[in-house]
Amino acid sequence: MIIASNRTASPGEPKVGGLAVAIWEALRERGGGVWFGWSGETLERETRGVRLFAEDNVDFALADLTEAEYEGYYLGYANRALWPVFHYRVDLAHFDDHEFAMYEEVNRRFGRLLAQFTRTDDTVWIHDYHFLLMGQEMRQSGWEGPMGFFLHIPFPAPEIFTSLPQHNRIARALCAFDLIGFQTDRDRANFERYLREIGRATFLDDGRIRAFDHVFRTKAYPIGIDADEILGLAEGEEGTAAASRLGRIIDQRALVLGVDRMDYSKGLPNRMEAFGRMLDDHEHTRGRVSFLQIAPPSRSDVDAYQDLRAELDQLSGRINGDYGDLDWVPIRYLARGYPREMLAGLYRLSRVGLVTPLYDGMNLVAKEFVAAQNPEDPGVLVLSEFAGAAEQLDGAILVNPHDISATADAIYQGINMPLDERIERWKSMDSGVRDRSIAWWRKSFLEDLEKIPEEVK
Ligand code: ADP
Repeated sequence: MIIASNRTASPGEPKVGGLAVAIWEALRERGGGVWFGWSGETLERETRGVRLFAEDNVDFALADLTEAEYEGYYLGYANRALWPVFHYRVDLAHFDDHEFAMYEEVNRRFGRLLAQFTRTDDTVWIHDYHFLLMGQEMRQSGWEGPMGFFLHIPFPAPEIFTSLPQHNRIARALCAFDLIGFQTDRDRANFERYLREIGRATFLDDGRIRAFDHVFRTKAYPIGIDADEILGLAEGEEGTAAASRLGRIIDQRALVLGVDRMDYSKGLPNRMEAFGRMLDDHEHTRGRVSFLQIAPPSRSDVDAYQDLRAELDQLSGRINGDYGDLDWVPIRYLARGYPREMLAGLYRLSRVGLVTPLYDGMNLVAKEFVAAQNPEDPGVLVLSEFAGAAEQLDGAILVNPHDISATADAIYQGINMPLDERIERWKSMDSGVRDRSIAWWRKSFLEDLEKIPEEVK
């Protein structure tokens, strides 16, 4: 088993985060394998090839980037072109041929390095938008065995995808995989529509697709979480301590909670405006509800994030100035991360979980919020219809995050929802979150991938 992801976990350290744990388990379950990725280090000029570390029966193979590669491949093409376009923000995308050349170069170099680790009976699984071209590079380096890809972010509608000057190159490279996994049917349908309308693909009777001289499968595998782990954290010592610390401050007020990386895809300004609108529309909620938004800055070296930060500072300041009182601050906005234990405790304390991205591949915070609830007094999830999780979490109040009044109404509905309705909605969401766990995700992808060699090509 050979797995590649841009970031890997650190050898010897606890594997934190759903994806890191899932990959780690996949490798160990199969009696070992290789986990390949970027070391997280940048060097001024030459790179040092691959450094190998072993932990249990897993070999970490880590490659460095040069500073120029980091700029062009990572900060540039991956995060300033692919990320915005795949999240429907063509307005924020920055297309630069030199950055694409760096992206291609890193995918080529990494693909060749990875090909060196493969043996005939291996299975290769490559992750996410950093490595869209790597499968094709592997094929060109002679790898003929089963090879799957999973896209963790959305795949946009063809009308948006084609704004990327290199869309054809990228789609062609993706088709070199045997199995392409998406978060949702929405994403898979977008990719297939691109192939049908632009890639002149043939859809075979057995469900396979022929395009760009390759035959492959596509399927949605919505990524999940380990619900018991989150529940354990929410009920654990640190979780309950965090909840009671915040509980003392908010007193008897209902808590509305948002937890996100600070990213323009998360719809944070819309969310603050919606909360302000609710205070405006329903005077009696003033002084009775507190909104806590936790949002640590991510990739702060990119202009778009600095603009977002300034906008949030200004919005929360204005709403607090307009509505706050001597003993009540409407919005508490914390631009820093918290340990998972504490987050889980805060999810459980909340009356409303506000998860309103403008566009999101899945959104695991929504699932974590559900898993952390007290079954006897669960909170309400207000969820964007544009989060991948909306395909599964039918008990949430779904909103269009661009519609400020509707989001304000949904928050109000959540705060006032009777207990029996909260329990009913939560139950159906919780069972979905438990069924489609992170273990289910990895197993179903790998089972499908490992069936590939049996299929006649
Ligand atoms: P994304 O991958 O776009 O950041 P997800 O919601 O799918 O969004 O996953 C985010 C993960 O990071 C979740 O597991 C969540 O618990 C964690 N996380 C998000 N925001 C914070 C934060 N402010 N502090 C600590 N962890 C966070």
